Amino acid sequence: MTDYLSTGALPDEYAQLAKTVRDFTRSVVAPVAAEHDRNHTFPYEVIAGMAELGLFGLPFPEEYGGQGGDYFALCLALEELAKADQSVAITLEAGVSLGAMPVYRFGTEAQKQEWLPQLTSGKSLAAFGLTEPGAGSDAGGTRTTATEDGADWVINGSKQFITNSGTDITKLVTVTAVTGVKDGGKKEISTILVPASTPGFTAEPAYDKVGWHASDTHPLSFDDVRVPRENLLGERGRGYANFLRILDEGRIAIAALSVGAAQGCVDESVRYAKEREAFGRPIGANQAIAFKIARMEARAHTARTAYYDAAALMLSGKPFKKQASIAKLAASEAAMDNARDATQIFGGYGFMNEYAVARHYRDSKILEIGEGTTEVQLMLIAREAGL
Ligand SMILES: Cc1cc2nc3c(=O)[nH]c(=O)nc-3n(C[C@H](O)[C@H](O)[C@H](O)COP(=O)(O)OP(=O)(O)OC[C@H]3O[C@@H](n4cnc5c(N)ncnc54)[C@H](O)[C@@H]3O)c2cc1C
Repeated sequence: MTDYLSTGALPDEYAQLAKTVRDFTRSVVAPVAAEHDRNHTFPYEVIAGMAELGLFGLPFPEEYGGQGGDYFALCLALEELAKADQSVAITLEAGVSLGAMPVYRFGTEAQKQEWLPQLTSGKSLAAFGLTEPGAGSDAGGTRTTATEDGADWVINGSKQFITNSGTDITKLVTVTAVTGVKDGGKKEISTILVPASTPGFTAEPAYDKVGWHASDTHPLSFDDVRVPRENLLGERGRGYANFLRILDEGRIAIAALSVGAAQGCVDESVRYAKEREAFGRPIGANQAIAFKIARMEARAHTARTAYYDAAALMLSGKPFKKQASIAKLAASEAAMDNARDATQIFGGYGFMNEYAVARHYRDSKILEIGEGTTEVQLMLIAREAGL
């Protein structure tokens, strides 16, 4: 990884990875995306193919079954997948950056040995349960509790909107919970590993979402869920700080996914604008359409440079919080704006669910909400700017 990454000249190993995932997306992901969207089914066979390619192990060392790559490699894979199917891309994003990464970053050696090989292989999925009915943007409002009882933690409470939490291959849910009160009266929040098979843990029926129909999202309930004390992940009371770090990184990944969605809309629109005729010529021959597509391309490109920049800073060990928020803000807005414009270019066909641009139109809205809303990104950027 070099300090500076150019969108026009990726080092060979990254370019090769992007091409491999692009080919896989065209041949395996795209052909079944509309069907899984229509049926609201989790695409197990596609996820198995991604696992075989090693995508779930991309940023992890080989000793834990990973590919020995880095976070930027993960971002490139997300961008390529999201061009055709955001549901598949978010399954990878949440599985790696929210599921496995907390174990890798904060786990003991024993926890890493137990969980990482199965997660990096893509044979199992882990979810990250932070959001609660009363605690989203204000995640410090966590009410779920974990109390000590002998050699165990006993967890009670609920989580909301948790990705990858109820699939047949979900093996682990990492949750934040209040474990006490700090000096000064603030909540002490810690992070605890809960194997999905633990009695008292329930993934409630899946949500009926506007988009991301092939991604798995559930409310979770914890009713006297008992796990050993060794399942504490990271230091007691560091749960809040640790998940902020995970979310900072995750924003770069969501930005990459959003750029993929934005670019997918450009690619579809270029193809359609050449093909579709009105008034005796291709609609793309009208400057109104060509300029709309030019703006879409510019948005995708600008957002891409923003996530490349944030990733380069992160991987060189420099502060990247502001750049990650800027990238997430710019890229999620680019995805939503491009989805709206692409749908317009497709006319009535753009309003038909079977078309990829219609799926992007429904899928892209959540990009402005998940892993920190647009308003949260603006708060973070304003704070970094000194306000
Ligand atoms: C499909 C999907 C998948 C998800 N996956 C996960 C997951 O895997 N794990 C997980 O933990 N969570 C997950 N989430 C939750 C997601 O991160 C939250 O929905 C998001 O952080 C917003 O929280 P909230 O929904 O409680 O909205 P709220 O925090 O209640 O916000 C409501 C509105 O108020 C605005 N707002 C709040 N505070 C302020 C302020 N101070 N100033 C200005 N505006 C403000 C927000 O920007 C928003 O517009 C997922 C959500 C969805 C929909």
